[in-house]
Amino acid sequence: MNYRYIGRFAPSPTGPLHAGSLVAAMASYLDARAHDGTWLVRIEDIDEARTIDGADEAILLALSAFGMRWDGDVVWQSRRKGLYQAAFDRLQEHVYPCGCTRREIADSRIGIASDGAAIYPGTCRSGLLPGRTPRAYRLRMPDPSDPAGWIRFQDRWLGEQIQHLSGAVGDFVLKRADGFWAYQLAVVVDDADQGITHVVRGADLLESTARQIYLQRLLQLPTPVYLHVPVVTNAQGEKLSKQTGATALDIAHPLTELKQAAGFLNLQIMQPLSVAHFWEQAIAAWRLRFSLE
Ligand code: GLU
Repeated sequence: MNYRYIGRFAPSPTGPLHAGSLVAAMASYLDARAHDGTWLVRIEDIDEARTIDGADEAILLALSAFGMRWDGDVVWQSRRKGLYQAAFDRLQEHVYPCGCTRREIADSRIGIASDGAAIYPGTCRSGLLPGRTPRAYRLRMPDPSDPAGWIRFQDRWLGEQIQHLSGAVGDFVLKRADGFWAYQLAVVVDDADQGITHVVRGADLLESTARQIYLQRLLQLPTPVYLHVPVVTNAQGEKLSKQTGATALDIAHPLTELKQAAGFLNLQIMQPLSVAHFWEQAIAAWRLRFSLE
């Protein structure tokens, strides 16, 4: 192996591990193990409004029950706020305060970003309106004609991806109106700080990747290699989450849950005799499909 591999699973502790998050965990674990790499676990509890007490421990317990052993110490984003502040300070020339409310942005109807949020119309780009106080802090996107605003990357599952930042996303928030750091900033800072070389996660985050690459460029941080796996949906076609009624996995029967997740990823596994036997087969099957060699 002539490359270094550090991967990670980065769950938000908004509930226990469910069938969808197990698929994301499994894919990142398999990719790391198939490449003799390091696999880290990072608890993304930066959005304290959505964090559920004890969900972090429940997720870690489930990972252990499923035989997924992480390397090194688990990190919690809520304990790393100094790092996000330092990165934010380095971005000052690209950041501006915004006094707009969510309603005002929605009413401007400039467009809907690829992730479903309203595109910011740029109201506060050249200064707050009179009488307004800063609510959030936004990152200025390159002008529509600036080639820096086109982000291209090769996804190992989905192939070539391209996004035009100002057209598809607009000036996005780095520090939220409730004072919390935005996921986009925290994830970029942490991936770099932890030396992550390969990101494997659900395709619900595909649309965020261009923003993250743009932030990496501004902060002069390396860009990892990305692989986005399909997202598990419920019968209504909604992504599984606590909000859409996903149920916790049965950690007393790990093989049943593991086989189901592997089936979703189209990995051929013969009757596994044990959890260890399952992983042996799954790693071999993943290596056949996603070898970086
Ligand atoms: N914390 C995010 C989530 O649970 C994942 C972030 C990532 O993998 O980049 O959806």
